[in-house]
Amino acid sequence: MFFNSFSPSLEAAKSIGQGFRVTMDHMSRKPITVQYPYETLVPSERFRGRIHFEFDKCISCEVCVRVCPINLPVVDWKFDPEVKKKELRSYSIDFGVCIFCGNCVEYCPTNCLSMTDEYELSVFDRHELNFDQVALGRLPNSTSLNPTKGFAYLEKGRINY
Ligand code: SF4
Ligand code: SF4
Repeated sequence: MFFNSFSPSLEAAKSIGQGFRVTMDHMSRKPITVQYPYETLVPSERFRGRIHFEFDKCISCEVCVRVCPINLPVVDWKFDPEVKKKELRSYSIDFGVCIFCGNCVEYCPTNCLSMTDEYELSVFDRHELNFDQVALGRLPNSTSLNPTKGFAYLEKGRINY
């Protein structure tokens, strides 16, 4: 009888103790977030971001189109009878539709496609995400940080400078 009347109080005290333990545990942890866009994390090595394209290396074979799950890359070429070769006129990928699977990069026979670590692709008009060969040929942006801030709490190599 005596123990029965105390058991709810003991349970409550136990729960409060557990809650405090979780709070204290989190207080001792280092933060894993950064002050974006002033700070940016370095994506992991195999991150699949915006695709880079090298126009001069493309042979217009259209393998990238065939392996793409949505036949997305647009390869415009014409046949040059003099040299008996395809001549690339334009190339584009719409990143508003692309699922960044990386198939085109993996199967391109001349390695003219590559995945960059660029992920800042927000635009007001989704049609702006249709990148032509000029936009695709641009090297990836590197976001700079405010060097006055202290980032000692982050692991070395995780943030862009
Ligand atoms: S990354 Fe995938 S979805 Fe995007 S263009 Fe290449 S194959 Fe198509
Ligand atoms: S697979 Fe490579 S070489 Fe062939 S059309 Fe696509 S980008 Fe050009």
